[in-house]
Amino acid sequence: MRKTKILCTLGPTTEELEMISRLINEGADIFRLNMSHASHDWVRTVYSRIRTAAESARREIAILMDLTGPSIRTGDVDQPWDLKVGDNVELRIDSGISASMPLSTTVNYPGLGRDLKVGDVIYIDGGMIQLRSTSVDARRVVGTVMTQGLMKSRRHINLPGVPVRLPPLTAKDYVDLDLGIELGVDFFALSFAREPGHLEHLKLLLEQKGSKARVIAKIENQQALENIDLIVQASGGVMVARGDLGSECPLEDLPIIQRHIIERCSYHGRKVIVATQMLESMIENPVPTRAEVTDIFNAVIEQVDCVMLSGETSVGRYPEKCVEVLDKVIRKTEERYPSGRFASDAPLKSSKDKTVKAAVGLANSIMGSRLLVFTLRGIMAHLLAHQRPEFAPIFAFTPHLHVSRTLVTARGVHPQVMDFVEGKPEETIEQALAVLRDKGLVKPGDPVIILSDALYANANVDAIMLREA
Ligand code: PEP
Repeated sequence: MRKTKILCTLGPTTEELEMISRLINEGADIFRLNMSHASHDWVRTVYSRIRTAAESARREIAILMDLTGPSIRTGDVDQPWDLKVGDNVELRIDSGISASMPLSTTVNYPGLGRDLKVGDVIYIDGGMIQLRSTSVDARRVVGTVMTQGLMKSRRHINLPGVPVRLPPLTAKDYVDLDLGIELGVDFFALSFAREPGHLEHLKLLLEQKGSKARVIAKIENQQALENIDLIVQASGGVMVARGDLGSECPLEDLPIIQRHIIERCSYHGRKVIVATQMLESMIENPVPTRAEVTDIFNAVIEQVDCVMLSGETSVGRYPEKCVEVLDKVIRKTEERYPSGRFASDAPLKSSKDKTVKAAVGLANSIMGSRLLVFTLRGIMAHLLAHQRPEFAPIFAFTPHLHVSRTLVTARGVHPQVMDFVEGKPEETIEQALAVLRDKGLVKPGDPVIILSDALYANANVDAIMLREA
């Protein structure tokens, strides 16, 4: 049983029902709908295809809607510009003013002239084009080209190290959010989360609108890194968005940043997803590079919850192969290096934390054991996952479908929806063990460590029980 989960972004090459089913078959656990590229009609169609495919595969599959967030973009250009080192480029903040030089376009961020200083670097298109700003005022910014490149319309801008005052969500995000809530997505990813308040704002909106979806903070720039502990604590999990992070921070810092974010998530007991370019070469090629295989290995060794595919499965030529490669490399790595160390210094704040730690210690000391948890809100099951049991898989039973789907993303957790027999914990346990035996997930006699705070009707009792399946 693979512990690290696989998240696939869907797109034109993977939008059909049959292909979604094949990705599930290869091992996809979560699908991402990227609102930067998706229309509402497309999202509606693909959402229902995912649910249909998951049902026929009898698998719990989670759906994550990735909100575009407040990205800064250049405006239109008539023809792509073939930029040379030393060229001057004008970005007009006030679209009402006329161009003052031949290479002039608009920019969509009204605060650019306020946030940027002369000498700051502007990355366009993930840093393929770099400008150094030579003149900045409220209406326009002028920069000199430092690296040559072709600049097309509406390119993404990064401002490395510049604290920007963009809002947490745009008008488009609010509309997309309503669609996600209406459909019932399990997670919303907040792009460019920079402060804990951004997450609080989104969580409050979800609560007001009656959504139970969890919020994932995408860590994409230095501002977010400065606030990383507070952001991690305010979120339901974070995504190490290496694409933008690689533009916003020195590239040589990226592996250190990845590890730091993972450690902070481990410390605070939050999920962590490593994203972007895991199998980038497989967008075109049927085999990965050796470096990509090693990157996957490292993420698994770092004990992340999920690894993510973007272009590889949304527009790539070999989406199924990509999932197959991830699945194989993860399994091999987990088999060779099952034990973890990243959770060892996490503080035990509550009695639940202590009970869970004791259960994990017991599981680690009994070869072949399984953890079985009964959970109403998913809390106990998530705590178990955050303690990173060395060998034992975590079977999580819950009566709630939405809880089960959020648990899909947790490392080592295999969720299962099942009604609890009210007031009869022993019957509930027996039923769960029968389900596991029927599915071949446990054999009679296997040691099972049972953890529950949910089975006793009139008392909140955290209990650990050791018995045989
Ligand atoms: C990233 O920047 O790595 C990322 C995952 O975000 P997006 O794909 O939305 O640019």
